[in-house]
Amino acid sequence: MGSPISVLILENDSNSVFDLVREMKSGGLSPLYRVVESFPSWETTVHEEDWDAILCSTREPFHSEIPIYLQYLNDKKLDIPVILLSDSEEFTKNLSYMKSGVNDIIDRKNLLRLTEVLERERRELVYRKEKNTTETFLYQSLKEIQLQKFALDQANIVSITDANGIITYVNDAFSKVTGYSVSELIGQNHRIMKSTDKTKEDWTKIWEIIQKGKVWRGEIRNIKKDGSDYWADTTIVPFTGQDKSVFQYIAIHHDITDRKLAEQQLTHDAFYDNLTGLPNRALFLARIEQKIFAYNMKDSGYPILFCINIDNFKRINHSLGNEAGDKVLQIFAERLKKYSDSDAIITRLGADNFAILLTHILSIDEGVNFAFRLLERLGDPIPIGGYSIYLTASSGISGFGLGGKEADVLLRNAEIAMFHAKSQKVGTVSVFNQAMQEKIHFQLEIQNDLKKALTQNEIFVYYQPILDIKENKIGHWEALVRWRHPQRGMVSPGEFIPLAEDSGLIVSITKFVLERAADVIEEVQLKQGHPISIAVNLSPQVFFDQNIFHWIVDLHNRRNIPYTSLQVEITESLAMKNLSETVPILSNLIDIGVKVALDDFGTGFSSLSYLEKLPLSILKIDKSFLNNVEVGTKESFLLVSIINMAHDLGYSVVAEGVEELEQLELLKSFQCDKIQGYWLSKPIGNEDIVPFIKKFNSKQEKT
Ligand code: C2E
Ligand code: CA
Ligand code: CA
Repeated sequence: MGSPISVLILENDSNSVFDLVREMKSGGLSPLYRVVESFPSWETTVHEEDWDAILCSTREPFHSEIPIYLQYLNDKKLDIPVILLSDSEEFTKNLSYMKSGVNDIIDRKNLLRLTEVLERERRELVYRKEKNTTETFLYQSLKEIQLQKFALDQANIVSITDANGIITYVNDAFSKVTGYSVSELIGQNHRIMKSTDKTKEDWTKIWEIIQKGKVWRGEIRNIKKDGSDYWADTTIVPFTGQDKSVFQYIAIHHDITDRKLAEQQLTHDAFYDNLTGLPNRALFLARIEQKIFAYNMKDSGYPILFCINIDNFKRINHSLGNEAGDKVLQIFAERLKKYSDSDAIITRLGADNFAILLTHILSIDEGVNFAFRLLERLGDPIPIGGYSIYLTASSGISGFGLGGKEADVLLRNAEIAMFHAKSQKVGTVSVFNQAMQEKIHFQLEIQNDLKKALTQNEIFVYYQPILDIKENKIGHWEALVRWRHPQRGMVSPGEFIPLAEDSGLIVSITKFVLERAADVIEEVQLKQGHPISIAVNLSPQVFFDQNIFHWIVDLHNRRNIPYTSLQVEITESLAMKNLSETVPILSNLIDIGVKVALDDFGTGFSSLSYLEKLPLSILKIDKSFLNNVEVGTKESFLLVSIINMAHDLGYSVVAEGVEELEQLELLKSFQCDKIQGYWLSKPIGNEDIVPFIKKFNSKQEKT
């Protein structure tokens, strides 16, 4: 059996067909063939088989139809070799068909070439078909690869390096992220990215893995051309050849910088203060522990802690706004860093509380010196919004073994010492001792009890009369709050008012005092007809944070209390805190008829220039002024000038703490208007007011 071949024969001469078949067979082929004699039958037959060749006579009618056949094959995209059977005399003429797509021409008188041509054409056809399928396949694969590459390029940063780590390919995303152009990267060692988060050992391990042909995946921090860094989730895929050795590495990076930053931010936020960038309490405690450990191991010096609190910081937030307050805290933190030693660990514990941990100071005494020096330097003016802010701060010190050996105890002790310092005087330094701790305990207890005191009727009000020494009349009283503690007995306002101010309880206490004062005005003036006005003390927490004007208008509307029967007392330091806020509140009160007294004058800053800026009705001179006052002394000269100046400004003057008749006489001679003090009466209960007035009046009538 010869090699099978399928041939479509266009011929109407049966002898000729016979010759062709015989020739093919003798040439070793085993032909499967069909003969068609006209175009219509060809049109169907040509599709019926997968023809290896078409043998076509050049005689009529075929001769004139040859172009039609060729066209048809072309149109139908049928790749079948066409071989013409030509008569020798027409041979050259038929050569022209070669140009129009005929594969070969054979002389029908000499068929020797037929087998050879058929076999050649079949080979070429097979080749063409194979090539075609390969091309289609290749084309499709390429397209797929391109699509995959496109997809890969979209989501990833891709780089390829050869076995030696030399970059052979990078995609656009790679060059975009790194800032290097593609040409700058190709040919470079991958170390151009100088990943900074990995050690040499890390890289050795990674190379070991990928050189074995295994995939490595991890996070790498790379450096861009501009020196900034980015984080990449990286997968390195090694490609191995037939000998199993790696010939290239494809690295697919995924930019995770945002996620990393968010992670870092989270850990940073957990241990650092947002506003100042300083370590927070948790981190600070850990640092103290480290230092204590190092001290115990004789590896570091004696740990000393300094708690530092800005005095009256609330005032800054209040008067200049929180933004200015934040700025002040930042500047304060900067100064703490600047003026502490380089090995100091500084923290912001919260709000306006800071702390410093030092280990190079040899004794507590040295620590105290350090603290005073530091506080002094922190006092440099801070320029904010056109103002110069002068800060003072107070500091508490504790040391290892000084009442405690654990980090949290040390810190707490320094805080206790700091509170103690503040309670003494602003801008000072205290060293922790056991007594302080007891005092703080006591204060905490008192503060707790105070919360219950109002509801349990332990709080009440006493009233101290004020005598008009020119008219010899009593019409003016001061309301002074009292607390009868169920176990401790009477607790003095000097002790619990500061605690009430710290805890905010002062607001309810002041409201309570105002209502009781209103009770007295109702009873004594409205019911019993003795004209009376009562002064109520206002703390800064009430004056600035609450609408005291509204409170008084409300008392007037609700209880029919005349404005002229009410007075308020504010301290000099309160008044001076923020003039622009104080002045309008005071003016409003004075406008409706409420008298305003400046309390304890002479204890604070005693800045006389402030006096004329303040809308006031009364100046109350502190009792300390009466010490050592005798005619002709410096003190008496000062007293006289204060009284004269107050009169010039239109204020009346009350002298506080008058205990002796001599003091009264002297004050009278100095033209003082009124006096208050034990000489006249201690503060008394509301039920004793009318009897006191009656007794005083009857005494006057007798004299
Ligand atoms: P303050 O406003 O200066 O009140 C006068 C204080 O001096 C009263 O003390 C009074 O009892 C006392 N005093 C009066 N005459 C004499 C005297 O001749 N000699 C001596 N040595 N002392 C005299 P108190 O009642 O203990 O009040 C102390 C401070 O507590 C008051 O000082 C005031 O600042 C504050 N305070 C009292 N009640 C209130 C209140 O309702 N609200 C506020 N915010 N503070 C109050
Ligand atoms: Ca007062
Ligand atoms: Ca006073």
